[in-house]
Amino acid sequence: MTSIPSASRFDRQERLSIWNQNIIEGSCVLIIGIGGTGGEVAKNLALLGIGKLILVDMDSIEYSNLNRQLLFSHKDIGKNKAKTAMNVIKKRYNSSIEIEAFSEPIQLLPFRIFEEADIIAGCVDNFLARQFINENAIELSLPFIDSATDGFFGQVQSIDSNSNACLACDSPPPPEETRLPTAPCTLVGTPRMREHCAWKALYEFHTLNNREPDENSSEDALTLTHLANKIARKYQFPLFENKEVIQIVSYHVPSLITVNAVTSGIQSQEIIKTLFLKKIKLFGKKEVKRFKSLIQTHRFNIPDLTIYSALTGNISSYDLLRDPECSVCGSSSIYRKALHTVNVNPKSKCKIIFTVLKRKYKKDFVGFKGNSLIQNDALVEDILEDGDRITVSSLNDDEERRIRIKYKTKRG
Ligand SMILES: [Zn+2]
Repeated sequence: MTSIPSASRFDRQERLSIWNQNIIEGSCVLIIGIGGTGGEVAKNLALLGIGKLILVDMDSIEYSNLNRQLLFSHKDIGKNKAKTAMNVIKKRYNSSIEIEAFSEPIQLLPFRIFEEADIIAGCVDNFLARQFINENAIELSLPFIDSATDGFFGQVQSIDSNSNACLACDSPPPPEETRLPTAPCTLVGTPRMREHCAWKALYEFHTLNNREPDENSSEDALTLTHLANKIARKYQFPLFENKEVIQIVSYHVPSLITVNAVTSGIQSQEIIKTLFLKKIKLFGKKEVKRFKSLIQTHRFNIPDLTIYSALTGNISSYDLLRDPECSVCGSSSIYRKALHTVNVNPKSKCKIIFTVLKRKYKKDFVGFKGNSLIQNDALVEDILEDGDRITVSSLNDDEERRIRIKYKTKRG
């Protein structure tokens, strides 16, 4: 016989002095990357009773994922990670939460999911994806909690676009021994380690070719080496041998479930605390006063950067200062400027968007959605959704702008 629960499912967490289950239940978290860390974060938030999860991962489940990715089993090999995670979480952990799953590359996601989210959890192992999430978070002033793991080390960085460093900021680095070579904090600033030159070369490769390099192509390896050595020479790092760069950027880092579990635990906790801080204003004055006094008593704090070493057992936190000149979060960044809106009929060709801009600014433009070039002759409705934001670059000078697409007529 099934016994009837006598208390709320969330009774034990609601006993905490700093807790507000209504905030958790009224929140939407966008989790990008549903692997070792992202799967754990999704499970944690589902068990905590989050209102909505948006799960994004374009990858399929592989046999080598099964040592640490708790949502997947042998029968799931070959299936999409985000969609499988959605079904497993609903069935196994919490059937009452709302979940949406996307298997597209993040650069092609509808922009509305970033607007719907209260916070972004970045759990990707990909340099370009990390950069793309960072830019969207800054543009929407959305809190962004990023994590990375590498063997025995894990790190969590909390980004508040108005107060601390973003992933592209050239802020003073944490101590050398705690830095992860595969999770560079600096994406577009000065490379602090030789490996960062390889990641920057990958970014340039992507911009030039609009695709990922093929790890089996000697031509791609040569191009990447050439790009990386240009950067290495500039910043006085030892030059790369042929194929070394492609080995760095296509290298699968060693991963441990124990490190994923600790890192995702820290990341989930920072997400909850950030949601409390962000949403507490929605509640009555009395509740806000009580919360503020508890924050002071308990020295409630969201560290900019937390690093966990499974070798020493240490968990350390660091401050990361914002760089006012940062190309992503700095005051002159395109992500900080007011958006220009272009009204288009979805049945038109993309050429019309660039013609409108040319008329307004007297310049020729090309457009990008994420890192994908928007072809002039493509139909708007084939590649853009109502409300999408794209970046346009002038062909005459270095000027870039962000524009928002508004459909004149809704698709039937
Ligand atoms: Zn920045």
